[in-house]
Amino acid sequence: SPIPKQIPATLIPGDGIGPEVVEATVKVLEALGSPFSWDIQQAGVAGVTSAGDPLPAATLTSIRKNKLALKGPLTTPIGEGFRSSNVRLREEFQLYANVRPAVTIVPGRFEDIDIVLVRENIGGFYVAHEYYIPVGDDPRAVAVSTGINTREACKKIARFAFEYALKNGRKKITVVHKANILKALTGIFLEAAREIAREYEGKVQMNDMIVDACAMQLVLNPWQFDMLLCTNLFGDILSDQMAGLVGGLGMAPGANIGDDCAIFEAVHGSAPDIAGKGIANPISLLLAAGQMLDHVGHKDLALRLRTAITDTLNKDHVATGDLKGKASTREFTEAIIRRLQAA
Ligand code: NAD
Repeated sequence: SPIPKQIPATLIPGDGIGPEVVEATVKVLEALGSPFSWDIQQAGVAGVTSAGDPLPAATLTSIRKNKLALKGPLTTPIGEGFRSSNVRLREEFQLYANVRPAVTIVPGRFEDIDIVLVRENIGGFYVAHEYYIPVGDDPRAVAVSTGINTREACKKIARFAFEYALKNGRKKITVVHKANILKALTGIFLEAAREIAREYEGKVQMNDMIVDACAMQLVLNPWQFDMLLCTNLFGDILSDQMAGLVGGLGMAPGANIGDDCAIFEAVHGSAPDIAGKGIANPISLLLAAGQMLDHVGHKDLALRLRTAITDTLNKDHVATGDLKGKASTREFTEAIIRRLQAA
């Protein structure tokens, strides 16, 4: 079906550096001539401030209607306080797949990295059924956490990864687990992946690796990897590590995909240490917007966007401080817009 000129989408500025990188992304998308018409909604600490709720009803209604959102990072209190709005959004809209590519754009410590991590996004330890057991006069003497993986959900994410490989010309999937210790929780994940892999024999290869060994291999020889398929927690950790291979958290986008809804975001958080300073790198969210354009079928626009980012960094040598450049978020944004206008 033809792509509509105007695609309604929810826009969540988020917390910390969120509003800064979201503003940058919206400006670049405007210069690109993107098809999105934004419905701005709040969540996270900004949701608490504006509507007394980290996930206001209006935000959920908007996403339910549009089935498409671009989201800045949301702050989650550590140790106590409200449950992560990110996790709640993934559960609410059954965004079972998190696609996190790490691609070298600026040569750094590692060159020619091109890995896509697919993370199971709803289950595992993120279910976080947690409680304390009191002993004596200590009400929190023992902490217990339960993870849940269903065979059905494991097969679903494995099928997603193999289909992604086929559609995107990827040849090998490495399944990451800890089935030597978490024999049930991650054993079922490996089993399900092996079962699905049989259907793709001759088209996509599969191997598997224990998560600790994978962490080391990602540093020693990251070029051996094409795609990683991970449980929720391992995918969270290894995708930050992969961001480190390509210049840091300023370079890492993520797509949360469900059967009928998708939310695009940066891998990074709200970066409270640099919030409000105007120095955040907007590339992660820009690349997430690129994934969003791909998702709605505007591959041409996504490619133009990625080319403008690459040229700004490598031909104009304009970059933010995390990439050892001198540009502010605004200056970097203006440089990309000039590239788009010149093209
Ligand atoms: P973080 O990703 O916010 O920051 C880690 C480090 O990376 C910081 O030094 C930060 O300055 C730097 N950094 C991150 N993004 C950057 C960018 N675009 N440009 C330049 N530097 C950047 O991780 P954190 O400090 O552990 O978490 C802060 C908050 O974010 C927490 O409340 C956490 O729960 C939340 N969080 C949200 C998401 C999300 O919304 N998807 C993801 C991760 C963390």
